[in-house]
Amino acid sequence: MIPLKTEEEIELQRESSLLVGKTLAEVAGHIRPGVKTIKLDKVAETFIRDHGALPGFKGYGGFPATLCISVNDEVVHGIPGDRELKDGDIVSIDCGTIMNGFYGDSAYTFPVGEVGQEVLNLLKHTEESLYLGIEQAVAGNRVGDIGFAVQSYVESFGYSVVRELVGHGVGRKLHEKPEVPNYGKRGSGPKLKKGMVIAIEPMINLGVKEVIQNKDGWTIRTADSQPSAHFEHDVAIKNGKPDILSSFDEIKAVLNKKRA
Ligand code: MG
Ligand code: MG
Repeated sequence: MIPLKTEEEIELQRESSLLVGKTLAEVAGHIRPGVKTIKLDKVAETFIRDHGALPGFKGYGGFPATLCISVNDEVVHGIPGDRELKDGDIVSIDCGTIMNGFYGDSAYTFPVGEVGQEVLNLLKHTEESLYLGIEQAVAGNRVGDIGFAVQSYVESFGYSVVRELVGHGVGRKLHEKPEVPNYGKRGSGPKLKKGMVIAIEPMINLGVKEVIQNKDGWTIRTADSQPSAHFEHDVAIKNGKPDILSSFDEIKAVLNKKRA
């Protein structure tokens, strides 16, 4: 069963999803060479609680922190700790909130200091692939249309799509049906219906698609140690046009300010 949400429920979930973007923007203001990832986690947890919400990941399946922080060749599910970010790193930050009884779930990959052009391109193209996937997220299409759009775009640059981790329905639970792979065939998979809310989240590797898990039982990294990028939005399925519940606007504003 794929849960369908009413308009009212979608508006409640939108508040949770928007809080994730605001939290990531707050975190973005603290990203610099020398900062410890645990510091970023504290910033996020305080910000979420100050806004009357709960961290969505903390305690989920035993995950110990508010943010998943994954650096360079780490794809997802990195655990914040004493690691210091360095000039030239990239850092994927995935954040969940619970507000109004609904989960928000969104992720963004940030450059730290001066990052090489090849890796900056990986970030740009991965983010673009997210929006190409979102374009397909309308009633009447199928889940495979999303994966096809993401996969065909990123593979045109020689990147690869992680297979073991996928997007998902999101709502009163963090992970609902359907699974939303970032690869696939046009016209395949479950049909998208008005009222579904899905998290679309391309995880794209510069090198090979294979991933391995660290001994910590959480962190997933690339098998060839090349960098990986991750961008994620929550999207409500409607007739005609996708409705993106989360937002990168606040993040972009902070990044533009930092660049100025
Ligand atoms: Mg996420
Ligand atoms: Mg997700």
